[in-house]
Amino acid sequence: MVEQPDLFGPKHKWCAYCGGHATTSSHVPGKLFLDEPFPVNLLSVSSCERCNNGLSNDEQFLMCLIDSVLSGAAGPAEVRRLRSRKTLERDLRLSRLVHDVMEKTPTGVIARLDPDRLSRVSKVLRFIAAGHLARATGRTTRPDSLLAGFMPLETMTEPQKVDFERGQRHWQEQVLRRGRLLVQANAPYFVYAGVVWCNVQDSRYRYSLVKVNKDLEVRFVFSEFLACRVWRNPALPSPAKRRRR
Ligand SMILES: [Zn+2]
Repeated sequence: MVEQPDLFGPKHKWCAYCGGHATTSSHVPGKLFLDEPFPVNLLSVSSCERCNNGLSNDEQFLMCLIDSVLSGAAGPAEVRRLRSRKTLERDLRLSRLVHDVMEKTPTGVIARLDPDRLSRVSKVLRFIAAGHLARATGRTTRPDSLLAGFMPLETMTEPQKVDFERGQRHWQEQVLRRGRLLVQANAPYFVYAGVVWCNVQDSRYRYSLVKVNKDLEVRFVFSEFLACRVWRNPALPSPAKRRRR
């Protein structure tokens, strides 16, 4: 049903993120954002050691941040998801990094991120999107050539939500017609208002690739809570232009 190009698949020679020699592979998204049993055929990309290892602290930060906000937790002991609770109880520095920015409000807990914490979140989102883009386009995608934005689904206005979920119907139909669906092979997916969302794991992670102004934008949602979109930095030359020079 779904055919996926194998460019930058886990056995590819070159790192999907930097174009260097690939010696390993990374999952997209990192497994810590999902629950066991993990989905079969979890998307992965070939990567070098440096790109693969540079990320895990920031991934843990984002995972614990999401789970703490979702639990309305003022401290590690109140975090409901076991994996995050254990990580926070083990790592005091991380726990401080997460819980120092938590703020109780009448409706729950919110996190106010300073520039350091924002850049950690942004880095993780840009790497995830770069992984999706590399698999979809067969081109190395440098995470630092991307821009990322995120907000909780529940704080979106109705028009924002419709725009986020629907993307651009025309592009999605074209992709479906060509039979080269830019989603993970064999993953369950669902169509929302004509847009394909790949549901990697129920209530944990879904993503979609949407064409916006001739560029692919990657959208994904963690835990049906944090809605993210990542797009190419328009201030940088496009990969095609760079090649011609
Ligand atoms: Zn690399």
